[in-house]
Amino acid sequence: MSTSMTRIAIVGAAGRMGTSLLLNGADRDDLHLVAAIVKPGEVDGDVIGPQQTPVADDLQFITEVDADVVIDFSTPASCIHAAQLCADAHIPFVSGTTGLDVAQLDVLVDLSRRISLLHSANFSVGVNLLAHLVERAARGFGESVDIEIFEAHHRHKVDAPSGTAKLLGHAAAQGRGVELDDVARWSREGHTGPRGSQEIGFQTLRGGDIVGEHTAYFCVDGERLELTHRATDRGIFARGALRAARWLSTRSPGNYKMADVIFGRNH
Ligand code: NAD
Repeated sequence: MSTSMTRIAIVGAAGRMGTSLLLNGADRDDLHLVAAIVKPGEVDGDVIGPQQTPVADDLQFITEVDADVVIDFSTPASCIHAAQLCADAHIPFVSGTTGLDVAQLDVLVDLSRRISLLHSANFSVGVNLLAHLVERAARGFGESVDIEIFEAHHRHKVDAPSGTAKLLGHAAAQGRGVELDDVARWSREGHTGPRGSQEIGFQTLRGGDIVGEHTAYFCVDGERLELTHRATDRGIFARGALRAARWLSTRSPGNYKMADVIFGRNH
């Protein structure tokens, strides 16, 4: 049986995630990596990665290679620029870039009226299952529980708390029936006073080569539940993004979530 081939362009191809996408996308008979967009001066030569993917340093190139879908792991500014180019050219768009502000996230929602679009702070199946468990635990414990989200990442990470920590915070808030922005405690320092009963707190650690660790704590008098995910290889994010890209490439316009890819649209 022949498999249809999905043509993929990568934005941020010279970065840690871009490199992992080039490696994990090679040797697959269902994927063809047709363009690798990098920053000017970042790469010597015209091709990159095991598939000898053509390199360009101009985002506009993603609209010139007949791509079925674009995958972006870069920076918030280039994510938004790439998404706008994709919307104008009617190309589905997957992004894992974190650190987008509310206005930038709103732009993506807006563009998803014109193309199929999936922005996820975490493409691992395990983390998306964790988010479901966190939502259920928050629902089960009800209002009496103190919820704290801990995350740890490598020393190069530039945003905090991680997009995944926020994703878990949103899941916890949803389980409790509140908006995260109304209850989030992003950090603590000095004379903080006692903990607010509705707070969802965030703790951050940065160091070494930690790929990504997240724990949701549910603390009540007399017991504590800890739900933890540890990533040891960023290949899980790359493989998840490639899976999402193939899935998204045939969807009609809309704003999709990784859970839609894993569990189906009406999970
Ligand atoms: P990185 O710094 O190693 O790579 C980012 C790359 O994007 C760099 O090479 C940079 O030069 C490039 N870039 C910036 N602007 C560009 C442009 N206009 N055109 C082309 N390339 C451009 O970072 P990373 O570790 O690969 O992470 C990238 C992003 O993905 C971060 O926001 C990170 O938090 C996020 N991330 C998400 C997941 C997930 O599952 N969603 C997993 C890991 C990392």
